[in-house]
Amino acid sequence: MSPPRQLLNARLPRWLLPASWPTHDRQPVLADLTLAAGYITAIEPGPSQASRQSIPTTAATGEAGSWDLQGAPVLPGLVEAHAHIDKTFTLPRIGQVQPGLLGAIDAMMADRLHWTAADVHARASRALDWAWSAGCVHLRTHVDWWEPDSTPVAWDVVAGLADEWKGRIRLEQVSLIKLPLFQDLAQARRLARQVASTGAHALLGAFVHTSNWDEQALRHVFIAAEEAGLDVDLHVDEELNPQAQGLAATARILREIGFTGRVVCSHTCALAAQPEAHALATLDAVAAQPITLVSLPITNLLLQDAVTGRTPRQRGVTLVKEARARGIPVLLASDNVQDPFCRIGSYDPVEALAAAVMAAQLDEPFDVWSESLCRRDWLQRTPAATVSLVGAAADLIIFTSTDAWGWPSRSSQRVVLRSGVPIPSLPERQFP
Ligand SMILES: [Zn+2]
Repeated sequence: MSPPRQLLNARLPRWLLPASWPTHDRQPVLADLTLAAGYITAIEPGPSQASRQSIPTTAATGEAGSWDLQGAPVLPGLVEAHAHIDKTFTLPRIGQVQPGLLGAIDAMMADRLHWTAADVHARASRALDWAWSAGCVHLRTHVDWWEPDSTPVAWDVVAGLADEWKGRIRLEQVSLIKLPLFQDLAQARRLARQVASTGAHALLGAFVHTSNWDEQALRHVFIAAEEAGLDVDLHVDEELNPQAQGLAATARILREIGFTGRVVCSHTCALAAQPEAHALATLDAVAAQPITLVSLPITNLLLQDAVTGRTPRQRGVTLVKEARARGIPVLLASDNVQDPFCRIGSYDPVEALAAAVMAAQLDEPFDVWSESLCRRDWLQRTPAATVSLVGAAADLIIFTSTDAWGWPSRSSQRVVLRSGVPIPSLPERQFP
């Protein structure tokens, strides 16, 4: 497939279009994109295309280098905002797992015996291959870190992979450290310095849960991160215990110490179990701080309210609508893939959105919520005030078998362009 110079009749999501973009039948008019030297140089509303919004079978190529997308949904490169590529693909060697988050942690600890550099490299590379073929340009992984004074094998392997994948996927790594290891401020500072010495793609992280709650230790996380110039990404309140206070305490501590980085709070399931007024007051406090929320609907649905032989009653997905309504950046991501925490998954963030559409009853998945798969700047210290594709690298995903109404259903068929060039698909089993 030769690279296109023009993409005609692309259906871009509303969040990516300027307010002045014309509409037809309350739908944004299809867009014509001009590409040059790997970049998007212009986007114009196409001529009247009311009749063309049908499900395309394949991108029709017209005159040289011009693809007629026939209304196919198009997104910019995806961000997989939360993954665990150190744990991934361990399922085949793990036996029975007790239900729930803590049972999965036990199974994972037993599997650690197998985590040599070669083992982690092979499994994590497969994860990156899958993310790449899904159209990811950015992947943030957490890496388990158990000891205060030694760096885990997987940490160094992932740092090597960040180099290997440079120019294809920006790989970030977060130290997933249990909160009690930050009780001692001197030790917290040592951990932060170690993380910072890994490179600009490394972040300080912690696992914050009612089972290990310690406000002073959490404060030390932020003090140590601030001193080391690090951003922070927490697993926080990944539970349905209404007493969980990690998120609320995070917002309060950031205000008190004037934290200057960005803090990603992943999960925050407990908001869904707390009294409404209390949860909304916490979100008001979050909105005033440099906090991004990452919701992981697939693992929340699988691990929250999980008891053997009993149908779950609660969904465990955080208050994504209320957060978005307050202007809090909200991303959706995969979390665990094919490990004791989650048997399924494919490093395709669109799958996470498909789960959220049902679990959180999201309206307008394409026009509104696809933003939660694309805004990589929401992970960065200073998110962009506005977004525009013009002038950006032509990293685009064309969904060839669906339309903007049905998306994300039938979204697995896609053409991924990187710098304007289609990437090859991963090999598949072939049958006569
Ligand atoms: Zn996670």
